Amino acid sequence: MNHEATRATVAGLHAELVHYGLVVWTAGNVSGRVPGEDLFVIKPSGVSYDELTPENMVVCDLDGNLVEGAHAPSSDTAAHAYVYREMPEVGGVVHTHSTYASAWAARGEAVPCVLTAMADEFGGEIPVGPFALIGDDSIGQGVVQTLKGHRSPAVLMQNHGVFTIGKDPKAAVKAAVMCEDVARTVHVSRQLGTPLPIGPAHVDRLYDRYQNVYGQRSPR
Ligand SMILES: [Zn+2]
Repeated sequence: MNHEATRATVAGLHAELVHYGLVVWTAGNVSGRVPGEDLFVIKPSGVSYDELTPENMVVCDLDGNLVEGAHAPSSDTAAHAYVYREMPEVGGVVHTHSTYASAWAARGEAVPCVLTAMADEFGGEIPVGPFALIGDDSIGQGVVQTLKGHRSPAVLMQNHGVFTIGKDPKAAVKAAVMCEDVARTVHVSRQLGTPLPIGPAHVDRLYDRYQNVYGQRSPR
């Protein structure tokens, strides 16, 4: 039963990547941990966004092996699996090549914390992770090394794109959307001049308020 709910959630969230303009063709993927089980649901490889349904989502174990599904899992499955193995608090992972964030990644440059929305959501800069080739655990290792102990739920993998994490798949999608939004704004700001940094004490206050007090959200 848990599988079915997670399949539906993960399938539906892929539409958000399209809605917010974060993906083209079949690039990008969302995954979600199946609550209470050592399994996660991820997008099938090479299936177009408008053909994604709860039924054609793929269930994998935490080593990235296919457990259930008619399609091969996403080619990024090893990276997602590594994150779930190493970060038990993570319930959702998203990967995109969204334009502005990937432009920062191509330069290997962190997005500096120059907007209150960044302090709120990321608790500081959006960091850069190492260059890593697809095919083994390298990408997953780079994501985990960079995000473990970091406030940011997003990492810009150098020369590649964005990985985000969250307590659930929706939170990871939100981080991917916000990452692209602030990467775009800070890029535009750079074109106009020099963005002003926000002092660390103010970043801390903004982050704490947003994460713990703002709205109805429960702490992550
Ligand atoms: Zn990629």
